[in-house]
Amino acid sequence: MEQETIVAISTPVGRGGIGVVRLSGPQAREVVAPLVRLRHPLAAGHARFGELLDLSGGAKTTADPCGMTNNKTGTDEAEHDSSRFSSGMTDNKTGTDEAEQDSNSFTSGATNKGTSASEAEKDTDARVLDQAVVTFFAAPNSYTGEDVVEIAAHGAPVLLEYIVRQCCAGGARLAEPGEFTQRAFLAGRIDLTQAEAVNDLIGSVTLEQARVAARQMGGSLARGVAPVKAELVGLIAEMEAGIDFAEDDIDVMAAERIATQIAAIHTPLEALERSFAYGRVVREGFRLAIVGRPNAGKSSLFNRLVERERAIVTAAPGTTRDTVSERVSMEGIPVELIDTAGLREGTDEAERLGIARTREAMAEADVVLLVVDATVGISQEDRAVLEQGAPGGSSVLVAWNKSDLVAGDHAGAKRKADSSAAPPQRASSPGTPDALRNDKQKTLRNDKQEALRNDNQEGAGAVRTSALTGEGIGELRAAIVAAVAGSGGGLREPAMLTSLRQHQAVEQALRGLAAARLAAATGIPHEMLLLDLYESLRGLDALTGATTTEDVLRLIFSRFCIGK
Ligand code: GDP
Repeated sequence: MEQETIVAISTPVGRGGIGVVRLSGPQAREVVAPLVRLRHPLAAGHARFGELLDLSGGAKTTADPCGMTNNKTGTDEAEHDSSRFSSGMTDNKTGTDEAEQDSNSFTSGATNKGTSASEAEKDTDARVLDQAVVTFFAAPNSYTGEDVVEIAAHGAPVLLEYIVRQCCAGGARLAEPGEFTQRAFLAGRIDLTQAEAVNDLIGSVTLEQARVAARQMGGSLARGVAPVKAELVGLIAEMEAGIDFAEDDIDVMAAERIATQIAAIHTPLEALERSFAYGRVVREGFRLAIVGRPNAGKSSLFNRLVERERAIVTAAPGTTRDTVSERVSMEGIPVELIDTAGLREGTDEAERLGIARTREAMAEADVVLLVVDATVGISQEDRAVLEQGAPGGSSVLVAWNKSDLVAGDHAGAKRKADSSAAPPQRASSPGTPDALRNDKQKTLRNDKQEALRNDNQEGAGAVRTSALTGEGIGELRAAIVAAVAGSGGGLREPAMLTSLRQHQAVEQALRGLAAARLAAATGIPHEMLLLDLYESLRGLDALTGATTTEDVLRLIFSRFCIGK
């Protein structure tokens, strides 16, 4: 059965300088022909300037042939219209001849109708709705692998919808979400990881996300997996041969050789599996809850990390009674920062509520940043967090804040604090000057200093910061990203897993390999061992979509927008 031709608006909803309607399928050119009057005939890989024509005959509203009921009248009208434009060309001052040729070539292709007197009369009614650029990509060298036509007109929703309706009237149907990309996949133009990357690229909110998606769209993951899969297939083939020709004296593979080959497949697959730690956070982002005693500088650090004033900073303890959140990009990863109320048993209702929210925020966060006032040292509440960990089991990072106030060996930081670089502050807030005047913060008692030194030595992953001077903020960002994405990051990995689906597929492949390794070690018959290797292969095939079921495909592509 011949593929249907599909049509959709490919640019976002709303008004824009330009809007694009895309068609794909064997009839794409034919469907577009009556709608546009071109100066030059469509040619593969070329954009053609032309005029978008009003085929509605002046009707105030147009029918909806894209709906469930197919509008037969619309189709007929389109056919008539297409022929009338061919003779209406003569008024066209620029490039008349070429346009005429174009239009004729289209109209004859679309309708095979001549130009009658009454139709010529209708021509005078032909109205130009807009100017358009029409680009044709011939099968198989197009996004979908089919004939594709893109009409770029001005981005008025009413115009773009009109184009789509006329295309439906001309025989196309409205595309399903992700159907263009799905067709590209079904035509073998891209594999499933590349198709997923298209959606990721469109949805990216940071440049790093776009980079990772673009690399995957270019086939980095598929290329990374290909040699591993080839090795696996080679091993399977060799073992199959050993079984099939056992009676013909073909050597059955020795257990050690099987083990070596499995290890050679296992190592790169395991590295790929590990890349998910970074791939997942880049794609999905993460949540960071900032907790600590009141007045430790949580809001000031939050502002530093957000790089603009958001949370209210005051010198009075316990002012951030509710949680405040903001989305920022940290080293290219989207982060939801949550500034919480202080970790202290509240004295009034609002504060108690704030503290309950703090615990909730900690439970939901991927990383907890415990802010410790370096002039005070670790409090009982801080210690409880360090010892018990976050309620959700996420990692806890410690920021030793107010490092500028730690006397003696940090004179440099102190000087900076005195001279410039105040953190974002509300002009009216009693903030920093008060803090600086605060005797308790100005000098460290000897015993506290000692305690601080000890804690610092203990505190793995602790970062010295000053929300006032900005000292240590860069290191803090890096430590936060490392805590959630793993140090070394997948940034430099050419092939990276970014979705849970991909991760599950690789896990399946690894499970199969582990079982095969065990089978080889325990001398289980090769027929059985092969079953494990096939299981592993199925995992790799699922990754690239070679053996993906209809249901899974439908699920993946339904997450796309229409027109993609
Ligand atoms: P929170 O209650 O933990 O959110 O603390 P705030 O961010 O409201 O800060 C409490 C006080 O400490 C304010 O007066 C801040 O200006 C001050 N402060 C915060 N961070 C620093 C810092 O690194 N150095 C100094 N000297 N003061 C700070």
